[in-house]
Amino acid sequence: MKKGLFSLFICICVFLCGCYYSQKRSATFFAMDTVMEISIYGEEKLLGGCKDVIYDLEKKLSVTDDKSDVYILNSNGRHTFDEDTLGLILRSIELCDLTGGAVDVTVYPLVKAWGFTTGEHRVPENGEISSLLSSVGYKKVIVSGSEVSLQSGMAIDLGAIAKGYASDKIVEYLKDNGVQSAIINLGGNVCALGKKPDGSPWRVAVENPFGGGYIGILSVEDKCVITSGSYERFFTEGGKTYCHIIDPSTGYPADNGLVSVSVICSDGTFSDALSTALFVMGKERAIEFYKTHVGFDVILVEADGSITISEGIENTFERSADIPESSFEVIS
Ligand code: AMP
Ligand code: MG
Repeated sequence: MKKGLFSLFICICVFLCGCYYSQKRSATFFAMDTVMEISIYGEEKLLGGCKDVIYDLEKKLSVTDDKSDVYILNSNGRHTFDEDTLGLILRSIELCDLTGGAVDVTVYPLVKAWGFTTGEHRVPENGEISSLLSSVGYKKVIVSGSEVSLQSGMAIDLGAIAKGYASDKIVEYLKDNGVQSAIINLGGNVCALGKKPDGSPWRVAVENPFGGGYIGILSVEDKCVITSGSYERFFTEGGKTYCHIIDPSTGYPADNGLVSVSVICSDGTFSDALSTALFVMGKERAIEFYKTHVGFDVILVEADGSITISEGIENTFERSADIPESSFEVIS
């Protein structure tokens, strides 16, 4: 083949490959008790790989599947974990510590007592709550080598952290396979890999906890936007609403005036742990935590509709037209 023709051939091949990979491919599926949607600019088979990452984690971390590692730990009081899962448990314990126990992976006996695992909701008696509280405390989890052991009555649940961790694993898998652009939505917890192929940032809508659309749109690149909200799972009894996020210091569902907390950060595991923890802390403590720690931004929504955002996202958060400026504040 002549040199000119050969160059033309190579150019066409490169162009066709570019078109092939710049095509958006999406998969929607149900896992970890939620609807997940992953869109990538990359080969179709990688979507299957992403699903495998999720299913594999679900098999290990589920609190209800009697074959999962976490289930076995909770039933036997001790279990030997593979390196990755052990790493997640150790990281989770660190995050429990960092948040002063506002997120606590050992709160599971209470989550179960309130019926959030089965959907058979109930308000436990005060006595039952105080008795279960004696089984709560991440500091009592013993890790020796790759074996984790729990005291009698204790049980762990990584539900407050698992989806963020799952998105980190997917991002890692996609990057390892050459993908530069993807958006991973695990039940409203969104992680953006890179930018959109046209070079613009990904636009992530932040849900309005009072229903009816969203409170605003964030422009992000290589960041997760992870939300904990009382509107996600709750029940009402005797005119009172109880949400699925338990304050480990009281044993009761968090009820401090916040209705949703979003954490924006490049580390999904951190964002997920923090969204739950800040929700438990309430507005004042959450702001104090934000001011004394680095590497993330927040959006706090209160029951009266007030919205507080951190200054790091002031220029990348577009407030929805129906959110009045008077109910909007920036933490400086
Ligand atoms: P998230 O939606 O990430 O805020 O996680 C909430 C889930 O984590 C709940 O459905 C419970 O399974 C579990 N959970 C509730 N409260 C806590 C807490 N304070 N610390 C750790 N896990 C919790
Ligand atoms: Mg969380």
